[in-house]
Amino acid sequence: MSFTTLGLSPDLLKILSNQNFALPTPIQEKAIPAILNRQDVLGIAKTGSGKTASYVLPILMNLQKAAELKNRHVHVLVLVPTRELAEQVKAVFQAFSKGLAVPVKTTAVFGGVSINPQMTALQNVNVLVATPGRLLDLVDSNAVHLGSIETLVLDEADKMLNLGFKDEVDRIISLLPVKRQNILLSATLNADLRLIHQVLLTDPEVIVIESEE
Ligand code: ADP
Ligand code: MG
Repeated sequence: MSFTTLGLSPDLLKILSNQNFALPTPIQEKAIPAILNRQDVLGIAKTGSGKTASYVLPILMNLQKAAELKNRHVHVLVLVPTRELAEQVKAVFQAFSKGLAVPVKTTAVFGGVSINPQMTALQNVNVLVATPGRLLDLVDSNAVHLGSIETLVLDEADKMLNLGFKDEVDRIISLLPVKRQNILLSATLNADLRLIHQVLLTDPEVIVIESEE
């Protein structure tokens, strides 16, 4: 299968070829059409299997269609366990949105650095990548509005649970619109993850890519 058959626009296909993404990985093949369809997705595949682009590409496509982008609120929230991952995911959104017809602004917020520059960077952001604690600090300071979120992504959900972020994630979810798309990515499917997947996902497309080893 090639990227051209997955429903991506010509400008995204061009960006992909500039980034030397020739063929979709197995998780990308399955997740991209489901996310374009606005389904909830649970994607399980080992580290290095291309999970980031499996949600970044279809989310950017969906944002190209969203007239609501003009309301200047955050439409997509990606929760991640660490600062490093927040910066990586932000970089992937930015690399794949360069030159798109509808501009998409992405920023990342995480703890361990001063909060004020992050507050300023939140202006007119469409995609927010965040670690849970810092996001809640920003919510409590009224620096971010979560009422326009259409898509929630939990990346490295297994690690998020292992690091004890469950209560913070629950509180964030309670602040989001009930009607939204949910996407959960993980390298493993353990008991805790099964539990949040039952609470969070509505009739999800479950994609499990078995590793070859
Ligand atoms: P995961 O989140 O599953 O651990 P990543 O999304 O971080 O994996 O991707 C791992 C690496 O593979 C990254 O360097 C990414 O740029 C690269 N990659 C992902 N998909 C493709 C693809 N279809 N073609 C070429 N490289 C890819
Ligand atoms: Mg990843």
